[in-house]
This record gives sequence, C-alpha cells and structure tokens, in this order.
Amino acid sequence: MKEDIQKLLDHKPTSSFLVAIDSDGCAFDTMELKQKECFTPNTIKYWNLQAISKYAREACEFVNLYSKWRGANRFPALIKVFDLLSDWDKVKARKVQIPYTPNLRKWIETETKLGNPALEAYCKEHPEQEDMQITLQWSKAVNKTVEDIVKGGLPPFPYVEECLQKCQGNADIMVCSQTPTEALVREWQEQDLAKYVFVICGQEIGTKAEHIKFASENRYEKNHILMIGDAYGDLKAARANNALFFPINPGHEEESWQRLYEEGLDRFFNGTYEGEYEASLIKEFDKYLPETPPWKR
Ligand SMILES: [Mg+2]
Repeated sequence: MKEDIQKLLDHKPTSSFLVAIDSDGCAFDTMELKQKECFTPNTIKYWNLQAISKYAREACEFVNLYSKWRGANRFPALIKVFDLLSDWDKVKARKVQIPYTPNLRKWIETETKLGNPALEAYCKEHPEQEDMQITLQWSKAVNKTVEDIVKGGLPPFPYVEECLQKCQGNADIMVCSQTPTEALVREWQEQDLAKYVFVICGQEIGTKAEHIKFASENRYEKNHILMIGDAYGDLKAARANNALFFPINPGHEEESWQRLYEEGLDRFFNGTYEGEYEASLIKEFDKYLPETPPWKR
C-alpha cells in the first residue's frame, strides 16, 4: 500500500490535464446487478422482510441506487432502509416489525472501518447481540451472492472507451475507486481498458479524494483536473481537490457518457467547462439523487 501511494506521489505528468474515473456504476454497469440481485434479496431474507418485500425492495433501490445515499457504505445504507420503512404508511398498515438494531447503530457511529473484518471481530466479543450477529450473516451472504452472480466480463457503458480514446494524448487518466484494487485491475484488464490509464487505485490506497491529491498535487492546474463519477462521494472527492466534476447520471448513464464524448471533453480541454456549463450538469445530477423518496413526494 505504501509503495502504491509512493507511485502516485512520484507520478510525472505526460500532459497538462488529469482525468480521474470512478469504476462501479460509472464506467461499468455493476451497481444495478449488485444491488438488485445481491443486496436486496439478502436484505429481505436475513431481516425477515418477506411480508413487505415490495416496499423493502423499493426502499433498498431508492437508498442504494437513486438517492443522495447512492454509493454509501452498506451498513449505514441498511439502517437508512429500515428508517424509511418504519416511516412509510403503507408499511405501517401491514403491522410488520421493522428490525430493531440498537447495537448496529452504535457500531456505525463508533467504528471507522465499516467492513466485515471489523464486524467479525466485534461479533466474537459480543455474541449476545442478536442484531450484530444477523448483520454479519447478512453481510457475508451478500458477498457470497456477489461472487456467485457477478461473473466477470461485464462490459463498460457505451461511449466509455470512446471517451478514453479521446483523452489519450491529451490527458493522463487514472481509475479512482473504493472497490478492492485487485478486483478493479481484473475488471479493467478483462475489458482491455487498463491500457488507457497510468494507475488503478482502489480502497487500500486511500479515499478517492486522496488518490487525486497524491497523483496531482503541485503538478496540474486545478481546472485541468476532471473527476468523472456517479455519486455524491465522487463530487466531494473532486471538490476536496478543487477539481472539476462530470456527473454520470444514475439510470441515464449512456446519455451522460455520450454527452461527455460529444461536448464535455472538448469543453474541458478548451477551457470552457468550468462555471456555467459544469453547474448546469450538477444541477441535473442533483435531480437524479434526491433526499426524499418518491412515495413521500
Ligand atoms: Mg460509483
């Protein structure tokens, strides 16, 4: 990991522009498959939501795919689903018990590494906490289903490769993601896209904001750095570096990539991206990631 960071710090620009691309849900259409086929069915099974499966599914998809929480860590996202269900009149009418998760809520607030290794260690120390035991079973089952269902070979969205080709020679390109690096490298190599990028950064190398910082600090003008992403976390990573942001709109990824190819990149390279144009894209992006669920509007 230290060597990987050093590699970023040592990166020498070959051009004056830097483009950082998120992977899951941005370059590759993996979010729909993972959320709808892997997360949601296990959430319904392990948390006994069978009687309200229709509402549970809708809440899961809203939180994880079509709201401002898109891309959030799985544990706080799960709690958000429970909170939305508790507050939904149609769910209340079914008189179904929404999972009671006091320890999980506390764990999320106090633990900084919200992942299975920390959860497993915690569960060993607290075998009496039922909600934590179920959380661990659920989380492991999700991983197993992902392994089983998400077989390699998912292609990138249309226009991703065209955009990479257009950047080639004009910008240095990096992958900037919170997926394990090993999986990222495999996916980018399988699709023969790794040849376009100078580095592939996953969760072990730090946050997305750190990736950009390590690779760019004191080497590129701020308005010569563009982050391409599909969630608020990506926008935040760009802003933490005063970099520009191009949104891939959830559910409208193809149009977004086409727009990047046909106008966004040209504007970025000719200096007319910053300001009004970027603001109009982000305003549109906001519409796709609302805070209020459709059943409350
Ligand atoms: Mg993403």
